[in-house]
Amino acid sequence: MKKDTIVVIGAGAAGLMAGIAAARQAPDLEVVVLDGATRLGAKILIAGGGRCNVTHCAVSERDFHGSTPAAIRRILRAFDVEATRAFFAAQGVTLKQEATGKLFPVSDKARDVLDALVGAARTAGVTLQHPQRVVGVHASDDGRFVVETSQGTRLPAGAVVLATGGRSVPKTGSDGAGYGLARDLGLPLTPRIFPALVPLRLPDGHLLRSLSGLSTEVRLVVASSTGRHLHAVTGSMLCTHQGLSGPAVLDVSRVWQAALADDPGTALLVSWLPDASPEDLDRRFQQHGARPMRRALSPPLPERLAEAVCQLAEVDPDQSAATLTRDARRRLVATATAWRAPVTGTRGFEVAEVTAGGVPLSALTGELEARHCRGLFVCGELCDVDGRIGGFNFQWAWASGTVAGRAAAARLTSGTKDPVSR
Ligand SMILES: Cc1cc2nc3c(=O)[nH]c(=O)nc-3n(C[C@H](O)[C@H](O)[C@H](O)COP(=O)(O)OP(=O)(O)OC[C@H]3O[C@@H](n4cnc5c(N)ncnc54)[C@H](O)[C@@H]3O)c2cc1C
Repeated sequence: MKKDTIVVIGAGAAGLMAGIAAARQAPDLEVVVLDGATRLGAKILIAGGGRCNVTHCAVSERDFHGSTPAAIRRILRAFDVEATRAFFAAQGVTLKQEATGKLFPVSDKARDVLDALVGAARTAGVTLQHPQRVVGVHASDDGRFVVETSQGTRLPAGAVVLATGGRSVPKTGSDGAGYGLARDLGLPLTPRIFPALVPLRLPDGHLLRSLSGLSTEVRLVVASSTGRHLHAVTGSMLCTHQGLSGPAVLDVSRVWQAALADDPGTALLVSWLPDASPEDLDRRFQQHGARPMRRALSPPLPERLAEAVCQLAEVDPDQSAATLTRDARRRLVATATAWRAPVTGTRGFEVAEVTAGGVPLSALTGELEARHCRGLFVCGELCDVDGRIGGFNFQWAWASGTVAGRAAAARLTSGTKDPVSR
């Protein structure tokens, strides 16, 4: 006979980890993980292009946005990259590090990561139930909870862990319902919840949309209306049939949106030649002689992109440098080093890799327990924590899930029946 029950809502990366941590720590507790999806782990399976970028060799609070760095650091330190490596190794999944610092399973199969988590959960005695969509969590004055599912089940619990993820790629099951559950339980949410690590749109018919599939190394700068550089990223940018994507664009998308909300004059500036200063480039163009201008940019740019950059500057790509007016040359220098991308918005939650905003860590203790409600824990993407591209979001899920799961177990095994402050 189990002593009490922990219900974890959501069997994604964070929820599975929370269930495993809780069951390992307190085998005499019943740990039930519920998920609304028919098939578990959709997001793990699509992650990293089906290879699942499990973590990064170096993870720190500086790789994240949202809640305060100190609060994020505390959780990351409780379950670090070495702990992640060791956890998966113990399940038979060795991680390999790539040149970028990203860690993947040696098999390059996301399925192995999901199987490892589900296997570890079953071995620890976790009960996985799905499809079981949670429609309500009721907290009573005696410090207990009742979790209600769309199938009409009512599960009593001594502790509840919310691990419902954010709103990105809702068809995976993370459709934002968790925010409603959190709000109904009295948890605060950030004023804005928006897509992050998301491709950006350019206007219909924009020249770069016709170059879909071309990618190049760029430097992207988010600049305020007064010209102050707020954030810069160097990396690969991909032209798509809708606008701009690629790692550098995904990484900059969050800061760009947040800055734009405060300052409508915010600009996204693209330096097509990240290593060249405007002065270098002006000199290079002046020395280019009778050759066509597109040749002054390609290489390093792919030829079609070099032509496009000339066209964006309203310079004929076939015109020779020698016949270029000073104004035209300066226009081309400005376009090549700080082109103001006419971004019309993002491609939204449908394709965003992560959600920015959520439950602020300030509303939770260092063990991720709600300050206002004993026995209620929050972890994963539902928290106001989002990382840059490279395995950081999963590391947050592993770490925060472990912290919340252990603390939920400790809450029910500590022997104290503290009156619940609600
Ligand atoms: C295309 C794509 C690729 C990505 N690649 C990477 C990568 O390679 N590396 C990386 O670090 N990050 C990556 N991410 C981000 C990463 O997948 C997420 O940050 C991480 O999965 C979040 O884990 P989570 O457990 O908090 O939420 P989720 O994984 O979203 O899990 C939440 C779970 O809760 C369930 N749920 C929601 N509401 C309810 C409810 N009411 N009742 C019951 N169940 C519910 C959902 O069905 C879901 O299974 C990627 C994301 C996407 C979309």
